[in-house]
Amino acid sequence: MNHDYDIIIIGGGAVGAALACALSNNNSSSSLKIAVIEAVSAKADIQPSYDDRGLSISLSSKNILDNLGLWQNISLHANPIKNIHVSDQHHFGFVRLDAASMGVSALGYVVLARELGKAFMQCIEASDNIDLLCPASVTDVEISDSTASVKVNIDGTEKTITSSLLVAADGTESRTRGMLGIETSVKDYKQVAIVSNVIPERPHNDTAYERFTESGPLALLPYTQQRCILVFTVAAADAEKYLQLEEQGFLDVLLQRFGRRLGNFSKLGQRKSYPLKMLQVEEQVKHRAVILGNAAHAVHPNGAQGFNLGLRDAAALAEKLIEAQEKNLDIGELTLLSSYLESRKDDQQRVLRFTDRLAESFYNRQVVKIIARDLVMLATDLVPPLKHRFARCAMGFWGHQPSLVCKSFLLPGQESA
Ligand SMILES: Cc1cc2nc3c(=O)[nH]c(=O)nc-3n(C[C@H](O)[C@H](O)[C@H](O)COP(=O)(O)OP(=O)(O)OC[C@H]3O[C@@H](n4cnc5c(N)ncnc54)[C@H](O)[C@@H]3O)c2cc1C
Repeated sequence: MNHDYDIIIIGGGAVGAALACALSNNNSSSSLKIAVIEAVSAKADIQPSYDDRGLSISLSSKNILDNLGLWQNISLHANPIKNIHVSDQHHFGFVRLDAASMGVSALGYVVLARELGKAFMQCIEASDNIDLLCPASVTDVEISDSTASVKVNIDGTEKTITSSLLVAADGTESRTRGMLGIETSVKDYKQVAIVSNVIPERPHNDTAYERFTESGPLALLPYTQQRCILVFTVAAADAEKYLQLEEQGFLDVLLQRFGRRLGNFSKLGQRKSYPLKMLQVEEQVKHRAVILGNAAHAVHPNGAQGFNLGLRDAAALAEKLIEAQEKNLDIGELTLLSSYLESRKDDQQRVLRFTDRLAESFYNRQVVKIIARDLVMLATDLVPPLKHRFARCAMGFWGHQPSLVCKSFLLPGQESA
């Protein structure tokens, strides 16, 4: 059956674009023909995936981006995380990790989503096998036994394009999911993340701080030029109060919650807020369709896991699709897509459980639960096997890993080392 494309990816945000790059013929032996349909240009200020939020990129994600040939550019705007410091305001629990004692040069990196977007778009634009349709919006999708068809509106003109496989990577509010009749379960945390950046008086020394405070978890991530990216999670009902505080008032709250470890804070950047929920789809794969990234599972940002998880999914899916194409198999066939999902289930469930428990436990003010939580933190800090387990989680090395974490995809004619 002749189609316009092998794969149509709806959504060129961080995860959809990462999948396209992993399938690009610049990076792999793929000769799959791909269309990426994206509603908003990566250069636009309103691009929802590529804004100024700082993303903590795990070591396994860094490896994937490196193997895709993207890391060199991204690293110019990345700050290493050499230490992690987790603490609980007014309580005794803490956990410390450092890269050197784990035998790595960094536990992860902090990158602005905007910089990530630039690297992905450069890769897509340089790939002969990818067409980027942007700005374009999808008005309908239809799946038949042999074909996934997408009606797309480009500059006011509607046309239908066809493929063997459709990937919906259009974010938490995915409309494609609804068009495919896929149900979701949603848990509203009734929390909001306020993201900004500040300059602390003392150097951050490449340390990522996560502090559980009376108003919610607060993360300070080390960034370039001695700035720190701030992610302050508060109850949704209080969010407006914190967003409306004048600069000094907000910095005073920050100092009160975080303490004086980094001295005073100054130069507060723009504040932006994100409502937080956990979302899971009932089906991630269907005949000729895959749901990917936040469209499939959105998690609380407390563990800095959402993009990292989506990237590992994208890497594993790319691996399966390239392998299937090399064997002349049908890439939209349900058995093949189910085997991709099977390989990813453990990792996904672990991340969903971990971030959900974290989100619940740090809003719990019952004394017994606080003591239990602080004992777990202390044990993690003091007992080496627990500490190593925590470090593996933080670095994204848990469970089965996609090959792109460990080795480069080979170009035609190349042999593995
Ligand atoms: C405050 C905050 C901090 C975070 N920090 C971290 C972190 O430190 N580490 C980490 O790993 N993760 C973090 N995350 C999570 C991470 O941002 C998301 O997991 C990631 O952005 C998901 O990418 P995505 O491509 O699946 O979805 P999105 O980023 O939502 O992208 C979806 C794309 O689809 C496009 N689109 C939507 N509808 C259509 C349509 N109909 N047609 C065409 N295109 C469409 C959108 O324009 C967008 O470009 C954080 C999230 C938040 C909110």
